[in-house]
Amino acid sequence: MRLSEYFLPVLRDNPSEAQIVSHRLMLRAGMIRQSSAGIYSWLPLGLRVLKKVERIVREEQDRAGAQEILMPTIQPAELWRESGRYEDYGKEMLRIRDRHDREMLYGPTNEEQVTEIVRASLRSYRDLPKILYHIQWKFRDEVRPRFGVMRGREFLMKDAYSFDLDAAGAKRSYNKMFAAYLRTFARMGLKAIPMQADPGPIGGDLSHEFIILADAGESDVFFDRRWVETDIPVIEVDHRGGLEPIFQRWTAFYAATDEKHDPARCPVPEKELVTARGLEVGHIFHFGDKYSRPMQALVTRPDGAAVPLQMGSYGIGVSRLPGALIEANHDDAGIIWPESVAPFRVGLINLRPADALCRTAAEDLYGKLLAAGVEVLYDDRDESPGAKFATMDLIGLPDQLVIAPRGVAAGTIEMKHRRTGERRDVSADEVLDQLVAPHPDPLPASGAREGPA
Ligand code: ATP
Ligand code: MG
Repeated sequence: MRLSEYFLPVLRDNPSEAQIVSHRLMLRAGMIRQSSAGIYSWLPLGLRVLKKVERIVREEQDRAGAQEILMPTIQPAELWRESGRYEDYGKEMLRIRDRHDREMLYGPTNEEQVTEIVRASLRSYRDLPKILYHIQWKFRDEVRPRFGVMRGREFLMKDAYSFDLDAAGAKRSYNKMFAAYLRTFARMGLKAIPMQADPGPIGGDLSHEFIILADAGESDVFFDRRWVETDIPVIEVDHRGGLEPIFQRWTAFYAATDEKHDPARCPVPEKELVTARGLEVGHIFHFGDKYSRPMQALVTRPDGAAVPLQMGSYGIGVSRLPGALIEANHDDAGIIWPESVAPFRVGLINLRPADALCRTAAEDLYGKLLAAGVEVLYDDRDESPGAKFATMDLIGLPDQLVIAPRGVAAGTIEMKHRRTGERRDVSADEVLDQLVAPHPDPLPASGAREGPA
């Protein structure tokens, strides 16, 4: 993409309405534009990041055996009356009437909708287990929409729903999503700690929030000091083997959210306990027959008895993640994208577009990068070097390639790594060698995705 043609409305000054760094940088880098409180348009650069996040989320859901569907944003009030949540949900729910005066709503979540879908067709234990997910916009009329996309009113969520015959099956589904979440966030370069969360009125232990530690986090979290030194790698998950060891391994050190943490019952001695601000990027949750019972989503057991489905739900804040990623990856000059979610892999700067040799060298390298399938943003504009560097640093592409007269004469290109600031003079061939790396995380051959957990 040529920057001279790209729609990238960067702001020089800090927008006064933005209180946290990610909101500021997303506005300054021309990623989003506010439409009304908590409602945003995604501009080209922002949308590229959102799509990359979405893709990682989708790949890991698919890998875990979840199947993608797409449910509507607008739902009938009827469904929510069946579960009893229509009145309970309160003012966060956006209620609408159609021309026939039928009550509708813009979905804040989809438990009722998905239960209605499966109750018509999942009839027997032989149809189980199933995990269905979608990636769809939600609306919650939050009391305090703020921090840009982090707490929006309209936001994109991945929500998955599992259906099992019994508690043991439900735990296997829970473990599949638990492992998928570990991989999903690790692939984005994020350390999202699974923390015990408030299971709500159902009780039980099966609720975890995946939390990033960040000053901009909205709640307090409590955890074993050993988490500080613990990195969460992209773990190998063999779905044919048991997933319980993975669950045990990554819940071994205590970690709990504000609502769940009880100082009187905390197993960690006070001096080993860390308190910090946390940002929720995902939430997994087993709730049994909370919806299947009132909505009569029943399956028959091998002995012929009809029982309500055991269900769980699993959310990821897809449109919150670009903000969370920036909270975790920035410096004074701007954003520093991890490679897996960067809007472009590399930025190419022609420092002297008026110079014929520079122009030829830059156009030539641009052509080669495109031909090799490298996502490149090419600053071919007639701007000062300072403005070009500032823009590139602000938008935070992992590497920058600088074409300048001295290098062109010597047959080299300056390559700057955005995160470390390290600069090297390299040849065009070296650039291509380095940027045309094989996909770092190929999906396994099919078959590895199947089978019980
Ligand atoms: P919170 O406690 O932050 O209000 P929640 O617990 O109500 O969130 P869930 O129903 O668990 O949210 O939704 C799943 C995920 O969707 C959350 O983990 C979060 O990442 C994301 N999310 C929830 N509310 C918002 C919002 N208003 N804006 C952006 N993302 C959100
Ligand atoms: Mg939650």
